[in-house]
Amino acid sequence: MSHFSDEFIKAIPKTDLHVHLDGSLRLSTLIELATLKGIDLPSFSEDGLRKVVFKDKYDSLNDYLKGFSYTTQIMNDALSMERVAYELVYDNFNEGVRYIEVRFAPQLHIRKGFSFEEIMTSVDNGLRKAQNEINSHLNSDEPNFSYGIIVCAMRFCNEYFSEYYRDFFEIHKYSTIEEKIKLASLELVKATVQLRDKTDIKIVGFDIAGSEYGYPASNHTDSYNFAHNNFIHKTVHAGEAYGPESIFLAITKCHADRIGHGLFLFDENKIYDENIKDKQKYIRDLTNYIADRRITIEVCLTSNLQTTPELTDIKQHSLGKMLQNNISISLCTDNRLVSDTTVCNEIKLAVANFNINNDMLRNIIVYGFKRSFYYGSYSEKRKYVRKCIDYYDKISKLYNYNT
Ligand SMILES: [Zn+2]
Repeated sequence: MSHFSDEFIKAIPKTDLHVHLDGSLRLSTLIELATLKGIDLPSFSEDGLRKVVFKDKYDSLNDYLKGFSYTTQIMNDALSMERVAYELVYDNFNEGVRYIEVRFAPQLHIRKGFSFEEIMTSVDNGLRKAQNEINSHLNSDEPNFSYGIIVCAMRFCNEYFSEYYRDFFEIHKYSTIEEKIKLASLELVKATVQLRDKTDIKIVGFDIAGSEYGYPASNHTDSYNFAHNNFIHKTVHAGEAYGPESIFLAITKCHADRIGHGLFLFDENKIYDENIKDKQKYIRDLTNYIADRRITIEVCLTSNLQTTPELTDIKQHSLGKMLQNNISISLCTDNRLVSDTTVCNEIKLAVANFNINNDMLRNIIVYGFKRSFYYGSYSEKRKYVRKCIDYYDKISKLYNYNT
């Protein structure tokens, strides 16, 4: 029942607040770099890789995550990282996206001769180069392209994840797995704050990614406190595979400004804590708190459909309930390659399957800009957001979607 044309959706200024660098490469780049580096792939053709690795449907979250073992292997030096970041900006800008927050887990890439600082610098270089090229060609009424970087710690990791984790696990062999996860996370957030303070790399946020079930956010309380105390914005992958309690922990233990996915926010069957007697009240209170504090949910429709077997119909996705409850949401891709999607595609899916009128779409888009972790002062952010809103309204008028 969508009445928004594809051209309109492409023309409006958009954001992607939740996009993983290592899940959003061009397939052609993956093949080219793997060939160059002599890294083995299950197939060296795009069709072949689409059949066996980057599929339409996945058996499980683990099946979905398999592709990352190939992408992270080729992202093992400065040139590759810079190239992947550079291309990501153009892929976004070419579909009308004006602002992205790119996230990735540096500890998956650290190896001998490729340090945390070098990784962050190369990603920032790639993003910045593309940003500057694009902005030098824009009309004065158009909002600039801009970006921020979100650093991810892993909810779960082991010695096979990367050279860094192998060494880390060896050095901390007398610690339990939980202690190792905590330590790695804390080390990362300290490195992140130091680098942000001594460079102009556009680091804006901290996140935890990876397997949720059995690896609670509470393992990362110390690192989120550290981020919080150092004015780093916080987002948490939560409620993707686990329920409302995980979202509750993200907010109360990790000071989350935004939530990644939040898919099972309303699912009382996924509440396991026996102390929560009135599950409906718990969900109601949590929902009201999130809505009132404008904690924004980064909704990733395609990705959720692909990794959640019980979610067979998009109309059953909790986005409908989020909108009914006036929660601030932003539509995001999660992984452009692994989910084979784009920002335009996510918006089209949302407007085709949920009751979203002109005003609501405008709100959703504007919230992407407003709730971004914009690098720069608040006054600069306000000016930028204003320009994006004015531009949106201008496009709206042009296409006769006046609100
Ligand atoms: Zn994600």
